[in-house]
Amino acid sequence: MSFILTAIRGTTAVFRTTRAYKAEAVRSIFSSPYLLDAEEETTPDKGKPVDPEKDRSIKHSYETSVRYLASTAYKTTYGTDPVWKHYRRNHKGALPPKKTRQTCIRKGVITTGSPCPICRDEYLVLDHRNPELLKQFISEHNGEILSYRKTGICQVRHQELLIAITRAKDYGIITFDVPFREYDYSEWYKPEPKI
Ligand SMILES: [Zn+2]
Repeated sequence: MSFILTAIRGTTAVFRTTRAYKAEAVRSIFSSPYLLDAEEETTPDKGKPVDPEKDRSIKHSYETSVRYLASTAYKTTYGTDPVWKHYRRNHKGALPPKKTRQTCIRKGVITTGSPCPICRDEYLVLDHRNPELLKQFISEHNGEILSYRKTGICQVRHQELLIAITRAKDYGIITFDVPFREYDYSEWYKPEPKI
């Protein structure tokens, strides 16, 4: 009888030790230096100095952007091409996802390796008083706003672009032509009676 009791005590002790071992193992995983490094990479605002190339905490005014678009620095960077022309999206697999990423900038810091054409250049400000930039996102053939699938800009910037272009058209900063339509008026009016 006592032998059985000691055997039971022994098994519980084994269970206890295994449980304690597992708990210790889990604790050691959570306190591993690799995980701490990963946390610091994903949350850069925890006292860690931010890479100045990825810092977007300073918002530039539209006047600065207008002067930048007319400068030689802009011409040597982009030439006469639109800012989105040589941008290539960075995505997993062969086919790109249907939508572009939601945003490139979180808490004032770029959180992606391939930020979109607007987010990567801090001097490109989407504003209705900056028509030279907005015109690059309007098709010269039919006057429609280019899709984000073509330009590759993120969803937040695309919404800002839509607002800025609509506002610029309302204020008359961007002119656009309404296509002339030929109507067949014989469908509306009866033919004149023959006398
Ligand atoms: Zn972006």
